[in-house]
Amino acid sequence: MRRAYNSVLRLPQVSECPQCGGAYRPHRVCPACGFYKERQILTVKVGA
Ligand SMILES: [Zn+2]
Repeated sequence: MRRAYNSVLRLPQVSECPQCGGAYRPHRVCPACGFYKERQILTVKVGA
């Protein structure tokens, strides 16, 4: 009765951030640079 649970319990989808090249989740703001949908959503503070 083994089902293809592998198809369900996959790793979360990640895409490569076009801005910083890091991994981020689609429909989510990149946690590294705050980029989302070709827009800068979050302001990454660079020092003072
Ligand atoms: Zn990024």
